[in-house]
Amino acid sequence: MRIKQGDTILITTGDDKGRTAKVLKVSPTERRIQAEGINIQKKHHRPRKEGEKGQVIEKPGFFSASNVKLVCPKCNKPTRIGYKRTGGKKIRICKKCQQLI
Ligand SMILES: [Zn+2]
Repeated sequence: MRIKQGDTILITTGDDKGRTAKVLKVSPTERRIQAEGINIQKKHHRPRKEGEKGQVIEKPGFFSASNVKLVCPKCNKPTRIGYKRTGGKKIRICKKCQQLI
């Protein structure tokens, strides 16, 4: 599992199952990720002063990277990530279309 920031992913479990989203952040351990509009956490801000309105701030929360599949930008299908070595470099490839992703 090597999801990167900016990848498009498909959610495979939970409330957001079947939705695709763009990855915003990946935790350093790569086990948890944050994606646009997925696992929204609501935070209520109380008014501090009189006349001020309270507001609800919505923010995507981190969730387990094992609940997603990468959507290949080349063939547009949910896929697993493979690796290839070329000239001492490790490159990421789509297991379905074998293209560099
Ligand atoms: Zn592909």
